[in-house]
Amino acid sequence: MQSTLISFPAGTLVGEGEVVLVDQRASVVVVDATPFHPVDHTWPDQPGDTGVITVGDARVRVTEAVMVAISDEGVLAVGSDIPVKRGGEGWTWMVGHRTDGVIPADIAVGARVTLEVDADLRASLSRGHTACHLASLALDAALADLWRKEIGNDPLGNPDFEGRANQSSRIRPDGSVDEYRLGKSLRRAGFDSEGFAASIGEREARINELLADWVGSAGESRIDVDGPSIIDRRTWRCALPEGEVAFLCGGTHVRSLAEFASITVALDLSDPQLLVMTTTAVAA
Ligand SMILES: [Zn+2]
Repeated sequence: MQSTLISFPAGTLVGEGEVVLVDQRASVVVVDATPFHPVDHTWPDQPGDTGVITVGDARVRVTEAVMVAISDEGVLAVGSDIPVKRGGEGWTWMVGHRTDGVIPADIAVGARVTLEVDADLRASLSRGHTACHLASLALDAALADLWRKEIGNDPLGNPDFEGRANQSSRIRPDGSVDEYRLGKSLRRAGFDSEGFAASIGEREARINELLADWVGSAGESRIDVDGPSIIDRRTWRCALPEGEVAFLCGGTHVRSLAEFASITVALDLSDPQLLVMTTTAVAA
């Protein structure tokens, strides 16, 4: 078996392929090539695509695309049950399509099937993911003067608050929720948490100003791939007025910032140890 060939980085929604594995117990179908974006089991930020798989009159609903791994010894693991990190040695990595109910007999190993992703959900998750990354870059920029020591920089050259403090990122249709740990270790790294708490309203306003500028610039956004399969590295690139940004990312994205009417954030520090940033995108 081989790693699944993927077409979602180019924005593709429909594809064809040959079924290589059907597991009725796990309700999973694996095809040699797919347009479905799977949720990543190591860093599950963007939910997997939904849609349908059809062959002739037979069809099955895909409730979520997930990662599937098969060990060299033949052990099959699905989604969050995969016991090793993404790309781990000794495993073959594939995209699985989790299905709703019994998989029709026509969708069997060797069958040529058509795969179709729900376009509206994909588009809203792509907007959510791009908005999430832009909000994190704007957050780094708006917090840059709060660092008392040198730390590593983000792709725009600002101190990398995101990389230091982000503990979870959840992308949803047209938005995201990010959580940042503001504990002792961040303070020891040189971050002025008190100064931040005292100026959170201004910081939020600054982030929203930056995001409005970036949306207005209507820059290009795309995903570059190192190869055609699910295990190849993927990089999100986006043109901003300050320059092009790029970082490793497994998700899906808009093609242009012109696809947004707006992106805004709300910062919540109800728990002084935990910053929650909620990002909301509005489609153009
Ligand atoms: Zn990403």
